[in-house]
This record gives sequence, structure tokens and C-alpha cells, in this order.
Amino acid sequence: MNTVTPVGRFAPSPSGRMHFGNIYTAVLSWLSVKSAGGTWILRIEDLDPQRSKLEYARQIEDDLRWLGLEWDEGGLDGRGGHGPYLQSLRSGIYEECLSKLQSTGLCYPCVCTRADILATQAPHESDGRVVYKGVCRPQRFPAASPEADGASVRIAVPDIDILFADRVKGLQSVNLARHCGDFVLRRADGAWAYQLAVVADDALMGVTEVVRGDDLLLSAAQQIYLFNLLGFTPPEFAHVPLICNSEGVRLSKRDKSFSMEYLRSLHSPEEILGMVAHSANIIDTPQPISLAELLSEIEHL
Ligand code: GLU
Repeated sequence: MNTVTPVGRFAPSPSGRMHFGNIYTAVLSWLSVKSAGGTWILRIEDLDPQRSKLEYARQIEDDLRWLGLEWDEGGLDGRGGHGPYLQSLRSGIYEECLSKLQSTGLCYPCVCTRADILATQAPHESDGRVVYKGVCRPQRFPAASPEADGASVRIAVPDIDILFADRVKGLQSVNLARHCGDFVLRRADGAWAYQLAVVADDALMGVTEVVRGDDLLLSAAQQIYLFNLLGFTPPEFAHVPLICNSEGVRLSKRDKSFSMEYLRSLHSPEEILGMVAHSANIIDTPQPISLAELLSEIEHL
């Protein structure tokens, strides 16, 4: 029996108003830790300065509170002992992790732009992912010069399979070389890559379980690779299905009829929680339900 009190997190990017899919993930992540008496962290993933806005982060907090999803740590006021909880304020932490990864000799500078890579390679996965073919990869490792002006920093991946048991998707085996390729840790403009930041944050915030959308399933393999190189234990993963619109396309911030603005204008928190619980097969019909009732449904599952 697992006796560790779970620590989970919800890590939205403040690039627009949340939609039903974001709420779906938030509720499942909250229920998963709260049904085991754990801690729920709200981390604001504002790595992209062009798209992130403080007002969206405030709106995310307001929507979560409106649903009753209170967090124990994090958020804009940064309560808790693992802050700051805004990624834009954690550069020093990412710098340290990058240095540790560079000391493995696996990192190298890459001058390929996204346009260069797209011009020579077709997207690999249906989601448009491109597996980098290693144009800038040094002949041998450890690589001699991990830094270069105007270059991104990439990490080389070996031809190995990463195995992990996803709580929703079951046993996964992802070949790093074939499915992911050498990936970026810091972009040429100095911005931190999601993969590095998320691993540093989940590790240092003591996160034991990650509940998020299944568009990030392959990323879990890249993240496990970094957790291991940094000497951290990876969390457990639960990749939940993405919610789609009536055309079967995953929801985006452009789907206005699924946005929290629209949903809040028509429904009560209990009605929305009922729709989430029904979509997640926790209850048979989408009837209104409170968070407390949902918690007891989960405990009885
Ligand atoms: N920031 C990502 C999003 O808003 C989530 C990343 C994660 O949960 O690892 O979709």
C-alpha cells in the first residue's frame, strides 16, 4: 500500500481564459490528491512572455475558487514553502538544473531554427511534433562546448526505451531517439523550455503525481529522462483524455462556448462539476454535484 501523502499540482499557462478541458484536468487532479488527504499546488506556467498575462492568471484563480477548488500552496500570492510559484520568477532554479545537466556532457549548442528543422523534416506525429535529426549534434560525447551565443541548448537522448506505468493509459514504452529526439532545454532567445522547467519544478516542489492532458504523454518520457539525470524520483503520471468539441477537435481557448466565461454565465459551479464528473465517468448522468459529494463518490470507487 502506498503510504506517501500525495502532492499534486495544476499548472495552467495564463494565455487566456480557461475552458472546460482545463477545468476537467483541474478537478481530476484536485480529486486525486484530496481523496488521499494530499496537497494541491497551483503553479502558474508563464514561461512564454509573449502569451502570458497576469490578468489571465488572476482569472484562472477566480475560476478555480468559483468552483471551490482551493489550493494549499502556490498561486499569485505564493503561499507555501516551495515558491516562487510563477515560472517567470524561477530562472535561477532553472539555471542550476541546466548546469547540472551540462555537467553530464550530454548538452550541446544548436543553431537550427524551427524553420530550418521544418524545412528539412516532415512532422513525425499527427500532433505536428518534429523529431530533431541531430544536425548540430557533436560527433562524440561528452560534448566539449555546451554554450554558444545565439544558440539553443539541446540535450542528446540515447536510443533507449523509457518505460512507465501511466495511471490512466497503462504501461507505456517510449523510445527516446525515435519518438522524441534530442530536445531543447533553453531556447536561443534565452527562454527556458517547458521540459526543463516542469521537471525542475515538479522535483523541487515535491510533486508525487501529475494529472494532466494526454497530449503530454510523450513529454513524460523526456521528463523521466531528465528526472533521472538530475537524480530525482519521477512522479506518477495520469494522462487524462483531452476534451473535444462537437467536431471532435480538442478544445482550445478559441472555443468560446466551452470557455469559463460562457459556462459561468449559464451554469452554477455544481452544474459544471456534474458535467466534469459525468465526462470522467464518475457519475452516470450529468446532474449537479458538489465537490464534497464528488469526493465521497471517489472514496467509494
Ligand atoms: N502548462 C501546461 C498547460 O497549460 C500543463 C503542463 C503540465 O501539466 O505539465 O497545458
